[in-house]
Amino acid sequence: MSERDEGRVTTLVVMPECRISIVRRRLLRGGLLASGWLLLPTAYVAVGKPALALPPAPPPASLPKSPPTDRVTSARLWPSEEYTRLVIETSRLPTFRMTQLQEPYRLVLDIENIEMSPGLEALPTLLQHSDPYILGIRLGQRDAHVLRLVLDLKDRVDPKLFTLKPVAQFGYRLVLDLYPVERRDPLLMLVKEFENDDNVSALEQKYADDEALLALVREYEKRDTKSKTADKTGGKTDAVHPKTPPPIPEKSPNTGGKKPPPSKTPTKPPTKPRPIIVMLDPGHGGEDSGAIGRRRTMEKNVVLSIARRVKKLIDAEPNMRAVLTRDGDFFVPLHQRVEKARRVQADLMVSIHADAFTNIRARGSSVFALSERGATSAAARWLAQKENNADLVGGMDINSKDVAVTRTLLDLSQSAQINDSLKVGSMVLTALGTHNALHKGEVEQAGFAVLKAPDIPSILVETAFISNPEEEVKLNDPKQQQRFAESIAGGIKRYFASHPPLTRA
Ligand SMILES: [Zn+2]
Repeated sequence: MSERDEGRVTTLVVMPECRISIVRRRLLRGGLLASGWLLLPTAYVAVGKPALALPPAPPPASLPKSPPTDRVTSARLWPSEEYTRLVIETSRLPTFRMTQLQEPYRLVLDIENIEMSPGLEALPTLLQHSDPYILGIRLGQRDAHVLRLVLDLKDRVDPKLFTLKPVAQFGYRLVLDLYPVERRDPLLMLVKEFENDDNVSALEQKYADDEALLALVREYEKRDTKSKTADKTGGKTDAVHPKTPPPIPEKSPNTGGKKPPPSKTPTKPPTKPRPIIVMLDPGHGGEDSGAIGRRRTMEKNVVLSIARRVKKLIDAEPNMRAVLTRDGDFFVPLHQRVEKARRVQADLMVSIHADAFTNIRARGSSVFALSERGATSAAARWLAQKENNADLVGGMDINSKDVAVTRTLLDLSQSAQINDSLKVGSMVLTALGTHNALHKGEVEQAGFAVLKAPDIPSILVETAFISNPEEEVKLNDPKQQQRFAESIAGGIKRYFASHPPLTRA
């Protein structure tokens, strides 16, 4: 069985509360259940089993009578606006079932043949008031063989439940991701951001860029120009090109409901230049801490801090906006990072990391671009492999639909973007050289998955070696973080000063 055939879950059943009481009475009469809040009707339990598990699970009332065989070694919560992840780590592949309830909304997760442990007992204390999705966490031994976990929810969620095989320092992981029913659209969030300043029309232009709506607008612009030229020469064009253009449909036929319509219909050409959009990608996050220094500095934290600083510097430019692939401590799969950059039609993608090597003397900043024909050095190949492992460590549901689609897209030829990436990369590298030693004096290339947007110049910056004690101190120091950020932002600004996006084909 391949790694991709990991456990699948589950048919979710939403239960009307009124049905529960009947079953609850029956169960109580049977004396089966220990505490009232854990009650659940047998008839409505949806079974979700890992593919590796043996026979189909019987209903809870007749679960196997074998004693508990496993303990939860650790349980973790990764809340974020985008989604909240709950991870339960065990030493064996767990068998589980999940049920979704409403009035009030909650999720019930039964894990078989597992017993309570301090690692799991601590889970409710990890819950933050600010968690966007979870209101409360309750735990209990449903019976001798089944552990029950109830999540009280703030609202209805779209849950994804899957298992991960042991990797790196982790054992088996049962992962429950809670997404909002209506997924946040980065494009829509950008629109909202821009509504707060005077760049709305520029952004509308950007959003409409790949849609039929803009094609229509352009068509009219062309006609209008021709019409004006004809007017000057005394031509009678009004009958052919009326001054009032025909109505433009409110929605593009190609949006498929995925993209928000522009907040105002751009019936006139925008008067301001479209902003340059830079996608900043702090590496790792959530379960995937990235490299860890001797003082336990985690790559995921320092690169987020540096990326936020770069964003501030970019946003301070009147014609530039930066967007983060993650603005918190949560895991984002590599292909989704690329997809996020494409969704906002970024003009540049900059992935920010901190390097590590077994030799603690290794030091200096480096910048990488994608390579289609092998890496420029063995070290670059090794590094790309290490960074590409992020999905395994961070924990991606490899059975989710969007993975295959995006992967196909990312297999397209990247050669056009690599030229631009090398140019911007060398400007960022030069700027970094004014602040830190350079690990190598030129932009290196390797097959980094996160640099594979076919249409967006993309670079990966290894700010410094977190494995080098001196550079670890530097990475932790807010003043030094700011200087790293200034170098990166400076290189980006220099690149766009000489390569404005609109001049690119
Ligand atoms: Zn990294």
